[in-house]
Amino acid sequence: MLAIHRYHVFFLPEKDMTYDVVVIGAGPAGLSFAQALTDSELKVLVIEQNDEDTVQSPEYDGREIALTHGSRAIMKSLGQWDAIKDEHKGYIKAAKVSSGNAPMTLDFDTSGSDLECLGFMVSNQRIKQACFDVVEKSDQIDFCFGQQVKSVKTNDHLAQVTLSDGQTLSTQLIVAADSRFSQSRRQMGINTDMVDYGRTCIVFTMHTEKPHLGIAHEMFGYDKTVAILPLADKQVSVVITIGSDQAQDVLDTPAMALAAEVCTRVNHQLGHMTLSSELFSYPLVATMAGQFYAQRYALIGDAAVGMHPVTAHGFNLGLSGAWHLAQQIKKAHQSQQPFYHPKVLRAYNSQHKRTSVPLYMGTHIVVKLFTKNQLWAKAARHAVLNISRHVKPISQLITKQLTQEHA
Ligand SMILES: Cc1cc2nc3c(=O)[nH]c(=O)nc-3n(C[C@H](O)[C@H](O)[C@H](O)COP(=O)(O)OP(=O)(O)OC[C@H]3O[C@@H](n4cnc5c(N)ncnc54)[C@H](O)[C@@H]3O)c2cc1C
Repeated sequence: MLAIHRYHVFFLPEKDMTYDVVVIGAGPAGLSFAQALTDSELKVLVIEQNDEDTVQSPEYDGREIALTHGSRAIMKSLGQWDAIKDEHKGYIKAAKVSSGNAPMTLDFDTSGSDLECLGFMVSNQRIKQACFDVVEKSDQIDFCFGQQVKSVKTNDHLAQVTLSDGQTLSTQLIVAADSRFSQSRRQMGINTDMVDYGRTCIVFTMHTEKPHLGIAHEMFGYDKTVAILPLADKQVSVVITIGSDQAQDVLDTPAMALAAEVCTRVNHQLGHMTLSSELFSYPLVATMAGQFYAQRYALIGDAAVGMHPVTAHGFNLGLSGAWHLAQQIKKAHQSQQPFYHPKVLRAYNSQHKRTSVPLYMGTHIVVKLFTKNQLWAKAARHAVLNISRHVKPISQLITKQLTQEHA
């Protein structure tokens, strides 16, 4: 029996398409997409393998998400931004990038623009919470928790998902937001580029003695990369990226020794620092689907593009993709065209590819350049930093990339 959110129990006979769209995955991308359809007449079912409590009250997972201005604009129009308390929002006013022991830094700030900051910091936990708080108010969206989508199948006439309890549901369109390791993507035969960097990201928060002034630091060392990102109050998020073979050593480091190391990396600019959360680790695997659609099927969020976090674009991209797919669907539906038609999905695919391919490739180059220890790579990153520092249009271009003013 299928338990649908709001506690009514439902049977969906095959071919009775109670839902126009079935979304797989109640992560931030799936929930944002569902929310973006609430001003249409389409009925949406979100299927999530976790139980309702997990989605309703997400746990802290160490991820502090840097959001662009474009993302804030989308989140505002979806009602998500105002659902996050101000005390949970951080502001990136400036960023400093350094390489190895070189004294120079590449600096970015908002001078020359009318922006109040480069971007915003909100924890993944708060984003997920806001996404759910907003979407659960809609009568058009139902949830099916605690069920995994085991298989998907589509043809000219319908799309079907089979759940872990064996039940099959029919719908007009499946939208998969089922993570970078999407099972449904594989079942639909969509080829996917996958890069396992052999590196692990370790994240945690720290309390600082001195104010961080909203400055983000990205320090590309020879063995590890350390990023320090400003959160609300005197809190920072620390992101250590290291070879996976050394990750356990970092995880086992006593808190005081780890704090001392971070203090040293940032030249004691933040005064005494203490750990304020546990440590979380994420192995780094980037993915890019060959195309973001198939017959009556579309991919959004990490299922479409799973980014390396160094350029902080994963959720930003996922959100803009979810938003644009919803706009294409609504446009078609309003003009009484079939919203699941390949033409509609192709338009989303082209638009999202145009945005994501350069970011995906660019991030890959940055990672390669800044994680190799050979002499050529060290020389190249010094050259890149030097040129970017002195050629204003380059640093302006990077700043534009960082802020992404327009969604
Ligand atoms: C350390 C770190 C730092 C990051 N920093 C940033 C940043 O600064 N800026 C930024 O923009 N992004 C950042 N990201 C990326 C961002 O966290 C992700 O892009 C985003 O969370 C992905 O959301 P999603 O909804 O696409 O996928 P997910 O959050 O993975 O959600 C997928 C959902 O689908 C469900 N699911 C999966 N399979 C099934 C199934 N078969 N049936 C039912 N349900 C299923 C899962 O349970 C899950 O709830 C970072 C990531 C990491 C790891």
